[in-house]
Amino acid sequence: MANVVDTKLYDILGVPPGASENELKKAYRKLAKEYHPDKNPNAGDKFKEISFAYEVLSNPEKRELYDRYGEQGLREGGGGGGGMDDIFSHIFGGGLFGFMGNQSRSRNGRRRGEDMMHPLKVSLEDLYNGKTTKLQLSKNVLCSACSGQGGKSGAVQKCGACRGRGVRIMIRQLAPGMVQQMQSVCSDCNGEGEVINEKDRCKKCEGKKVIKEVKILEVHVDKGMKHGQRITFAGEADQAPGVEPGDIVLLLQEKEHEVFQRDGNDLHMTYKIGLVEALCGFQFTFKHLDARQIVVKYPPGKVIEPGCVRVVRGEGMPQYRNPFEKGDLYIKFDVQFPENNWVSPDKLSELEDLLPSRPEVPSIIGDTEEVELQEFDSTRGSGGGQRREAYNDSSDEEGSSHHGPGVQCAHQ
Ligand SMILES: [Zn+2]
Ligand SMILES: [Zn+2]
Repeated sequence: MANVVDTKLYDILGVPPGASENELKKAYRKLAKEYHPDKNPNAGDKFKEISFAYEVLSNPEKRELYDRYGEQGLREGGGGGGGMDDIFSHIFGGGLFGFMGNQSRSRNGRRRGEDMMHPLKVSLEDLYNGKTTKLQLSKNVLCSACSGQGGKSGAVQKCGACRGRGVRIMIRQLAPGMVQQMQSVCSDCNGEGEVINEKDRCKKCEGKKVIKEVKILEVHVDKGMKHGQRITFAGEADQAPGVEPGDIVLLLQEKEHEVFQRDGNDLHMTYKIGLVEALCGFQFTFKHLDARQIVVKYPPGKVIEPGCVRVVRGEGMPQYRNPFEKGDLYIKFDVQFPENNWVSPDKLSELEDLLPSRPEVPSIIGDTEEVELQEFDSTRGSGGGQRREAYNDSSDEEGSSHHGPGVQCAHQ
C-alpha cells in the first residue's frame, strides 16, 4: 500500500493509490467518455473533477506532492492556473484558502506557522472583576546574528541528496501494477532540505536559524469573559524562516468556585436556612465576588419552601464588553428541619394550634392494614427526588423492577 495522506483524487478515478500510469490512463479514458459534457451535459462538474484528478496524478511531480502532502501539497506546489480555486473547492470543500481555515497561509501568501495554545486558569473572581496578569513563555525567534539564514549569505546550499525536499521517496514495484512507496527523512540534511558548511554556520544559533527567547505577555482578562474563551496574541508564536508566525492563543479555564456556580451571565448558589427562617422571615449576608457584603432580607410572613429558588436581579456576572449590565443571582434554599424529638409533645400541640390545620381524615370503610413507616437512606438506593441520580449511579439504566420499593414510591 502506498503511503499517501489523501486518496480523494484516486477515488475520483476509481483507482487505488499507487495505481500505475497505465491504470490511471485507462480509468481516466473510461470515465471521461462516460461523463463528457457532449454526452452527458448535466455532469459538467464530474467531468471537471475527473480531468483535474488525472491532470494531477498523471504528472509525476504533482502526484508526488499530492501523495506526500495531500491537498495542501498541491496548493503549495501551485497546480494549474485559472479555475483552480473552483475545482479545489469543489473537490476538497472551501476555497483555496478555506480548507485550512486560513491556518496554512497568511493573507500575503506566505506559509503560516502553527498557533500555540496555552490553557489559562482563572478564578470566578477574576472573571467578575477583570484581571491583568503577566505570562512568561519561551519561544523561537529568528536569530538576529544571521537574520535567520543559519550562516553567511550564500552559505546555505540546497541539499543535493533530496533536491531540497527534506525527504527521499523510494518506489518499489511489488508486482505488476502494484507499487510500494516509502519515504524517509533525508539523512544528509536531517529533513531541512538545506545544508550549510560547518565553517560557515552561524555561531549564535549553530545554523538552526532560530534561538529561544523568553517573552512576557501581558494578559488582560476582561470582566465577563467565559470558560473556553480565547485571548489571542497575533503573530506571537514561534518564528521560523520564511514562515509567518502563528498566534499564541490562551484558552480560559474557569476554576470551580466554593459558593457560586456560573451559568452564562447568571450565578447560582445554595443557602441553608432553618425551619424558623423558612416560616418567619430572615436576613443573611454573603460575600460577593468583588468582596462586597450583600445583605439578603426576606420579610416575616413570606414562606420559603424546601428546595425553592429565589432570584436577586442584577447580581450575576457582568456581561462581556458591557460590564455594567449584569446577569441574575439565583439562590436555592436548603431548608434544614429540626431533629427528631426536638420539642416536648405538649409544646407540639401548641405548635399545631399555630400551624395551618390538618386535612380532614376520611372515615374508613371496610378492612384496613396498618403499616410502619421506616427511615430510608436515599444514598443506598433509589429514593424520592433522587431517583434520576440513583439511576445514573447504577450500572443498570433500564427496568425499575429490581430497584426496590423506593422506585415505586417515586412514581407517585
Ligand atoms: Zn544565527
Ligand atoms: Zn536532504
